[in-house]
Amino acid sequence: MASKRLGVIGGSGFYQMKGLERVEQIELDTPFGRPSDPYFLGRVDETEVVFLSRHGRGHRLLPSEINYRANIYGLKQLGVEYLVSISSAGSMREDLAPGDLIVPNQFIDRTFRRPSSFFGNGIVGHVSLADPVCGPLSRELVAATRATGASVKDGGAYLCIEGPQFSSRAESNLYRSWGVDVISMTAMQEARLAREAEICFATLVLVTDYDCWHQSVAAVDIAEILRVMKLNVEVAQRAIVNLAARIATLSRDCPCPHALEGAIITDPAVIPPKTAADLDLIVGKYLKRR
Ligand SMILES: [Zn+2]
Repeated sequence: MASKRLGVIGGSGFYQMKGLERVEQIELDTPFGRPSDPYFLGRVDETEVVFLSRHGRGHRLLPSEINYRANIYGLKQLGVEYLVSISSAGSMREDLAPGDLIVPNQFIDRTFRRPSSFFGNGIVGHVSLADPVCGPLSRELVAATRATGASVKDGGAYLCIEGPQFSSRAESNLYRSWGVDVISMTAMQEARLAREAEICFATLVLVTDYDCWHQSVAAVDIAEILRVMKLNVEVAQRAIVNLAARIATLSRDCPCPHALEGAIITDPAVIPPKTAADLDLIVGKYLKRR
């Protein structure tokens, strides 16, 4: 059996993947430009793991500056079928405390200035995002995280804001009234693009603080946030190693590998050749079949 490829996108504080063996550095270019950083390909037992630092090592890119399309396209080029994105976030509920983890299954998008689709330039496609994460992969991610002994909430809503500033108190209270669980700035585009690229996607969110709605915010201690972040990142790294072992036997009987079935509206005869070539990796099999 061919080994599975698990992609991992690391966020704040998570700039390299520990526990990988025989690591190879891969520089890629894509039709959408350059990814945030080189990819690091290594192994955990039978599973191949491809790691990418979302903000680049050294943390050089704002959430709005990240080339999400290049990042996801590069993972597709590398044959990744499963993707876990890891990010830090603020908690929007009292019972989700700094140091806790959550595997969200829904998103609300409040971003407004980032490319979030592979479509355009003469090809139109509409995929379903009703269930924006892969159910089976999310279940395995929850189990793999629980196996580290950490407290992890299964499901919840992730609110994605543009940033880079955090929200105002009025915004924070408004978002709380929407019933969201965490607030952060990056995973939404990754969920959208992974779906278009037919990659199974799940996200592990590390709670570092309460957003500014919380009364304790006046007393925020940066050293405490960094301490919590460091502990969270260690848990996340162990969770990924656990997950890599678990997905060796997972079969992709979820809808993700067929997300583009029936999604492309454009008549293939009018798709510009350059667009078709750029997207061949993602849409080619559907265009040829018509
Ligand atoms: Zn899936």
